[in-house]
Amino acid sequence: MSTTILVTGATGFVAVHAIEQLLAKGYNVIGTVRDQHDPARNAHLTALPGTERLKLVQADLLDPDPFSPHSDVDQILHMASPYVINVKNPQRDLVDPAVMGTLSLLQAAARNPRVTRVVVTSSMVALTDEPDGRVLTEADWNTKSTLTRNPYYFSKTRAERAAWDFMARENPRFDLVVINPFLVIGPAHSKALSTSSAIFADMLNGKYPVIMDLNWAFVDVRDVAAAHIAALETPTANGRYICTSENYSMRQSIDLIKRLGYPTRKLPKLDLSGPIGTALMKLASYTQRSGTGSHLRSHLGRTPLYDTSKIKADLGITFRSAESSITDTLADLVKWGHVPPILS
Ligand code: NAP
Repeated sequence: MSTTILVTGATGFVAVHAIEQLLAKGYNVIGTVRDQHDPARNAHLTALPGTERLKLVQADLLDPDPFSPHSDVDQILHMASPYVINVKNPQRDLVDPAVMGTLSLLQAAARNPRVTRVVVTSSMVALTDEPDGRVLTEADWNTKSTLTRNPYYFSKTRAERAAWDFMARENPRFDLVVINPFLVIGPAHSKALSTSSAIFADMLNGKYPVIMDLNWAFVDVRDVAAAHIAALETPTANGRYICTSENYSMRQSIDLIKRLGYPTRKLPKLDLSGPIGTALMKLASYTQRSGTGSHLRSHLGRTPLYDTSKIKADLGITFRSAESSITDTLADLVKWGHVPPILS
């Protein structure tokens, strides 16, 4: 097969899985990284099977025109975007790279007659700022996040909006498909701890002082990667795709961790997951860093609801259960030394 896929943010937690699956399917891959000559940051990529069909090139989202030089590209996965909850300057550190990177990528694609499809990794955070009791569908947009309220959410919403606006304004030859994953967990290819899997490391390492009424919607990184590839390969794929498996609460997560035999010494014990505890935790959230605080206030005591029928019907994706993904995440956190192993 001589099809070449450009994958931006190739070092990332999700992107490495996508590249692994693309190489296994025989594609040629051009992966963009921030430092092409840093073996320590790129070693997990160059160790993948099929790496003779992988070329790494340098690109920073804030560079002027970082993606143009690659004319030998047929399709694109745009995955690079800063995924950080607490930053010093949300405009500079989150919104600028997310929006400028997406626009640079689409402009480069529009100049390249070979490109037929661009798949952008957006997020559920572009659908909603907080669970509000309604069932989310692909028609929903986050209208509440700002530079001070869930700024990461704001950056992803602005970037996805910019992508659809570009398509409407420029009417390029390629088409755009967007994947909107919820919290991505699962095994990592490198020691770097992803923001989402850190939830479990934090629970086991004593960073959660109490059990809170938090309800997460999880999706396995291997399924997210497969969804992106299905979006490239399915000619009829269109629009946005909510990409998630199922909800799992903090209480359920702690019960699973205990059931699997992980050390319980640092796990939170005090249960403040009732209505009074939630009110107390919302007050306490003002003592947290601003990104964590606004996230807690918009998510405590709320349960995400969503409709995943479109991705299942159009792209044929089936999702691993949250329990099996969390089990694999925990084992992987042990493998990389982030948490202590199961007690023998
Ligand atoms: P990740 O491991 O932090 O990967 C992010 C990637 O973006 C990294 O390769 C990073 O490069 C790159 N990047 C960040 N800022 C950049 C810049 N200024 N220039 C060039 N590259 C830059 O996060 P991830 O979980 O794999 O996320 C991948 C995509 O999925 C992101 O678009 C994220 O918003 C989205 N997403 C993630 C989740 C989740 O729960 N993980 C959920 C929904 C959507 P470096 O390695 O050099 O930092």
